[in-house]
Amino acid sequence: MKRLGLIQVYTGDGKGKTTAALGLALRAWGKGWKIAIVQFMKDDPGYGEVKALQELDGIDLFPAGRNDFVNLDQPEEIDCRLARQGWELVQSFLAEGVYDMVILDEINIAIACGLLAEAEAEVVAALRQHKKRPQPRAEIVMTGRYATPGVLAEADLITEMKELRHPFAQGIEMREGIDH
Ligand code: ATP
Ligand code: MG
Repeated sequence: MKRLGLIQVYTGDGKGKTTAALGLALRAWGKGWKIAIVQFMKDDPGYGEVKALQELDGIDLFPAGRNDFVNLDQPEEIDCRLARQGWELVQSFLAEGVYDMVILDEINIAIACGLLAEAEAEVVAALRQHKKRPQPRAEIVMTGRYATPGVLAEADLITEMKELRHPFAQGIEMREGIDH
């Protein structure tokens, strides 16, 4: 029993959520899986992972954001629209069954910050529907801080990255090759 189509959530304030998902993608790719990564709130071709994935056939990356910071207190309309498009894409991937793993990077924040209006109920309904799909169905991987209770309730795996220490506290800013 390999492809159970479970739901995994990586959340918390410590570093390692997106890189955990990328690590999973790499591992699954090595076993011949086809993987989609939808990156909410990001679109930066300069990221190390974006460049690396261009070299790999079988992991497809879809930006669902802008190459700019989102004001989490007051997201702009364009941010909401791009997040919505990303979510529509995710739903089509899950329904079509083309991908063996669908990674929803930073979706937890997109939900928590209201980028996707009414999203929690909608996402929860989609997760429930996915669990009823016949096998083989895609493994779902959701990342980002502030995973909401409804999403957590549907998850088969939850890992909370907890910050014990981060170089940011020493004034060390984001580093190429480490943080992006
Ligand atoms: P990574 O992409 O390195 O796995 P992440 O996905 O867990 O990190 P996010 O919450 O998505 O982290 O944060 C985005 C950016 O903030 C990343 O560049 C990440 O390295 C950095 N970061 C993560 N955790 C912390 C922290 N506790 N303090 C400061 N910066 C952090
Ligand atoms: Mg992240």
